[in-house]
Amino acid sequence: SLTSTVTLHNGVKIPWVGLGVYKVEKGTEAVDTVKAALDLGYRSIDTAAFYENEKEVGQAIRESGLNREDIFVTSKVWNTEQGYEETLKAFDDSLQKLGLGYIDLYLIHWPVPGKFKDTWRALEEVYEQGKVRAIGVSNFQIHHLEELMKEAKIKPMVDQVEFHPQLYQKDLLDFCKENEIQLEAWGPLGRSRYLDDPVLNEIAEKYGKTAAQVILRWEYQHEIVIIPKSTKPHRQKENADIFDFALTAEDMKKIDALNQDKRTGKHPDEFP
Ligand code: NAD
Repeated sequence: SLTSTVTLHNGVKIPWVGLGVYKVEKGTEAVDTVKAALDLGYRSIDTAAFYENEKEVGQAIRESGLNREDIFVTSKVWNTEQGYEETLKAFDDSLQKLGLGYIDLYLIHWPVPGKFKDTWRALEEVYEQGKVRAIGVSNFQIHHLEELMKEAKIKPMVDQVEFHPQLYQKDLLDFCKENEIQLEAWGPLGRSRYLDDPVLNEIAEKYGKTAAQVILRWEYQHEIVIIPKSTKPHRQKENADIFDFALTAEDMKKIDALNQDKRTGKHPDEFP
C-alpha cells in the first residue's frame, strides 16, 4: 500500500510510492494536487527548488491535518546553487519555503562537474545538524557515485535517476544494490510516451491492469522507489493501485527486454 516503505542504509524509511510534482504549477494547482494525493493515502512527495512549488507542497501538508512524521518530503539543490556555502544557503531556503521543520530527503539534483563534492559536504553538514533525515543524489551514474564515495564521510542513501522500461539501467541498479544505495526512478512512466506499447498492453490485459500500472509494478519488483506524477486524482489512484498483483519472472524479463537505453531527459554527462 501507499504506506509500505523500504529502509535506507541509515534506518530511515521511505515509501515505495510517492507523488512527483515537477511541472505542477505553483499556486492552487500545486496545493490541490498534493492535497488530493494525501487524501488518497500518498505519504511521500518529491519536489525540488527548481520546481518552484515547495511553498505549496508545505502548505498542502500543513493544511492536511496529518502528522508531520507520517509524511516523507524530498527536495533538491539546483545546479546554480551548488558549492559548499551556496548549498547551505539553498538548503535553508528550501527548509523555509516548505515550512515543515525538517526535510526528509535532500538530493543533489544533478552532478555538476567540479562542484558536486563540495555540495555533498554541505549535505553532510545539514544531515549532521539534524535538519534532514537522509541525503542523496540524483542523476548520478556509476562513475559519479564512485568519485563521490572516494571522499565522502557519509554514503548517499538514495540515487534518483531516470528509469523506466526503455531506460532499464541494470548496471546502475546492480551497483546501487551492492552499495546499499536505494535507487529511485524519476520519469517512472517514461513520461507517458509509450504507454501504447503492445508488449506492455498485452501483459496489462492479462492481469486486468493498465500499462502504467504494469510499468510501475515492474519497477517495484526491481526494488525501485517510484514517484509518478499526475495532477489528476483518478490517475494518482491508478498509479498507487499496484499492490494487488505480481508480475511473473517471465513477464519481468519481457519488460526488461524493452530497454533501448532511451532517455526522455538529458544525459547526466552532458547536463549540466
Ligand atoms: P512520469 O513518468 O511520472 O510521467 C508523468 C506524465 O504521465 C504526466 O504527463 C502525466 O499526465 C502522465 N500520467 C501519469 N499517470 C498516468 C497514468 N496512470 N496513465 C496515463 N498517463 C499518466 O514523469 P515525470 O513527471 O517527469 O517524473 C515523475 C517525477 O520525478 C517528477 O514529477 C519529479 O518529481 C521527478 N523528476 C525528477 C527529475 C530529476 O532530475 N531528479 C527529473 C524529472 C522528474
